[in-house]
Amino acid sequence: MTKPTYIISSSQAQSLAKSQNKTIPELLPSLVKQAQDLARPPISKFHVGTVGLSSDGRVFFGANIEFPGLPLHHSIHAEQFLITNVALHGGGPKLLYMAVSAAPCGHCRQFLQELRDVARTMIMITNGGGDDHGEYRPIGDILPHPFGPFDLLDQEMPLVLEEHKNVLTLNGETENLRNLTNGYLELAKKNDGLLKSEALAAARGSHAPYSGCPSGVALMDCDGNVYKGCYMESAAYNPSMMPVQAALVAYIVGGGGGYDRIVAAVLVEKEGEGVMVRQEDTARLLLKHISPKCELRVFHCI
Ligand SMILES: [Zn+2]
Repeated sequence: MTKPTYIISSSQAQSLAKSQNKTIPELLPSLVKQAQDLARPPISKFHVGTVGLSSDGRVFFGANIEFPGLPLHHSIHAEQFLITNVALHGGGPKLLYMAVSAAPCGHCRQFLQELRDVARTMIMITNGGGDDHGEYRPIGDILPHPFGPFDLLDQEMPLVLEEHKNVLTLNGETENLRNLTNGYLELAKKNDGLLKSEALAAARGSHAPYSGCPSGVALMDCDGNVYKGCYMESAAYNPSMMPVQAALVAYIVGGGGGYDRIVAAVLVEKEGEGVMVRQEDTARLLLKHISPKCELRVFHCI
């Protein structure tokens, strides 16, 4: 089985477009079907796929992910997957074009507002693929009268896909590994420093301008590979991407396979007085359900 594609390099995208006598924006809708095949929607069975051209020239894929047995708000929408994929791989800082298999829901139109100048990003709704792909139009046309970061933040604040440098350090208290009883204690010990540093790096890169509560998650699979995900807030709160969801996107894109292969996880976040948003309980709930062997440890930062 060939490895699924989640990212196409700039040079690959150019040669692929050239071979089909297309521009890269014209190439995107022809990849939407391939993106839909990446979806994991066991509840809805509705495969959503999206493909986006980042301003750095790379093409990124996104697909919807659902988790049976949990509340629906844990679901990851294809557009959120796409933006997370771009963010975690240093793409951007803008999304120039995107093609998507079905009209984006309101939640995603709102989440996309966290990107700078997204009203000018061109979007095509392909309605499931086929040769008749429709036309590109600005995202501003499909979300008139938007509410977003421009209503709440100073212009200078970094947005999603822009560099974030949250100043954070671990507060020194460490939860040791002696309780890890899943058979992966040695592997977790070997990767302990990496898990912590990656989760801290994810928290430093997270987008939490509304709550001031940055956070990041790192996951380790049973082969010792580590995947990290940054929290990304939405001005409208509910469409926010939790750090554990973002780390699962990294896990999927990184070829991590089934969720039951995740055996250790670290969450870095703030705690204490004035901290209004905490990820621990929801991260624990999601991981316990999909990765029963996984032991989550939480480190607090200041
Ligand atoms: Zn959506």
